[in-house]
Amino acid sequence: MTTLKTKFIFITGGVVSSLGKGLASASLASILQGRGFKVRLKKLDPYLNVDPGTMSPYQHGEVYVTDDGTEADLDLGHYERFSGVSATKYDSVTSGKIYQSVINKERRGEYLGATIQVVPHVTNEIKEFILSHLTDEDFVLCEIGGTVGDIEGQPYLEAIRQIAYDLGRERVMFVHLTLLPYIPTAGELKTKPTQHSVKKLQEYGIQPDMLLCRSQIAIEQNEKRKLALFCNVKEENVITALDVSNIYEVPLAYAKEGIDRAVCNHFGIECNEHHSDLSKWQHIVEICKNPKGSVKIAVVGKYTQLLEAYKSLHEAIKHGAIANQYKADISWIDSELLEKDEPERYLKDVQGIIVPGGFGKRGTQGKINAITYAREHNIAFLGICFGMQMAVIETMRNVAGIQDADTTEFNPRCTPVVGLMTEWQKEGEKQTRSKDGDLGGTMRLGAYPCILKEGSKVRKIYGSSEISERHRHRYEVNMSFENTLAQNGMIISGKSPDGQLPEIVERTDHPWFIGVQFHPELKSKPFEPHPLFVSLIKAAIETKAE
Ligand code: GLN
Repeated sequence: MTTLKTKFIFITGGVVSSLGKGLASASLASILQGRGFKVRLKKLDPYLNVDPGTMSPYQHGEVYVTDDGTEADLDLGHYERFSGVSATKYDSVTSGKIYQSVINKERRGEYLGATIQVVPHVTNEIKEFILSHLTDEDFVLCEIGGTVGDIEGQPYLEAIRQIAYDLGRERVMFVHLTLLPYIPTAGELKTKPTQHSVKKLQEYGIQPDMLLCRSQIAIEQNEKRKLALFCNVKEENVITALDVSNIYEVPLAYAKEGIDRAVCNHFGIECNEHHSDLSKWQHIVEICKNPKGSVKIAVVGKYTQLLEAYKSLHEAIKHGAIANQYKADISWIDSELLEKDEPERYLKDVQGIIVPGGFGKRGTQGKINAITYAREHNIAFLGICFGMQMAVIETMRNVAGIQDADTTEFNPRCTPVVGLMTEWQKEGEKQTRSKDGDLGGTMRLGAYPCILKEGSKVRKIYGSSEISERHRHRYEVNMSFENTLAQNGMIISGKSPDGQLPEIVERTDHPWFIGVQFHPELKSKPFEPHPLFVSLIKAAIETKAE
């Protein structure tokens, strides 16, 4: 349960979806950290899936994975990257999980014969999620997914209303993120949709304390005054969230608008201006504005139509570039294009190639063609998860000459270089899976240790012999091909501590060719760029110099 000092900030969204509540919440958290406060971020998603793990990336974007193996909303990635606080299973929930827990309790007879209802049983479960597993945080920021007015969101709004009632209004702040559309013919920003959205919130018994208004242009004071009056919010708590070209500018932009002062005032906390330290953000923004040069990286994948599907990867590449004081110029290439056309057409001026994670057969030959191109042209290459599996298949087919080398994921009658993993160890316990098991939550998920081979490139890059990285996959490179791979220039340079699972491969005849079974992009942060991305970008920059 919470200590008395913990204050809760609930972030809801109005008018339209995709306003960037996750980024807004993460930015506010980071600004509060800049004032020395301890923060925690939680995400509540009203949809009925138990987690986003079974959703198509086109539906939901990337599935973010935490150290403890939770498959979560991609906003948790923003939270971790901006706050540096590692998320856990207690920081992400969906209606699917909430209902599952309520129904399990009902089956166990824990409700002692009561009729189970949305209020109070579902709402109590939501309240418990918000209030449990906290330590001594100053602020807990809870983002409610969806838009006010959604049917699925109603129990969440009722639950947070009750929390404000239970804890007292002085420990709770409601922040509503809305949009002020600009109508060019009228030359005006429109406040009506926001007024309606706030009315809707008020119907649920929630009076927002702050309006965070997304806008293309600056909001005039008279418009702020109007919004404040009609929405019953203090004028200084109507905050402009101006569109910015670089997400790392968001914390600076909000701070300039006085968001932290407004939060402190709301909670009656002394707000000394000199205590705010956002220098780390200033530093990052400065590098982004004045890079030494630009480095061209190609990502050859399957979901390139929706960049949200590669959110963390996109960020990690940017972090690697920033660490080298460069700007990453990323081309997102649909791998199927490399099946129809010569890869040269798309890859001839790139300095680095990444084949990211993925599932299913479509576009795999194009990925393999991109890998062949990187290998033959000495272009820096990083294969992530599926990308590593494809890199191993590429070496087996095109260097070792085993034409039917493939993965059993979609080719059961192949030389199984990549196969279904049915047994492995997690924290000393045996994990087992079968071909016909459930798809949801059954992959090898979360952080696992990996031992790096002495003398290998990755050992030098990480500067350490043991690392921990996050996983999300069902298939694994088959260890019995280790010798064949080595004879063909590819060594397994990272393995699980028991030596059973190959975690990293690298080509010894290439300047920078690495495949990793895990997802390094999930742990990269602007202030703690991932060593693999820093090194990849450095190698890519050097490619240009040659
Ligand atoms: N489809 C592959 C597997 O399940 C790779 C998964 C991924 O890239 N995340 O093993």
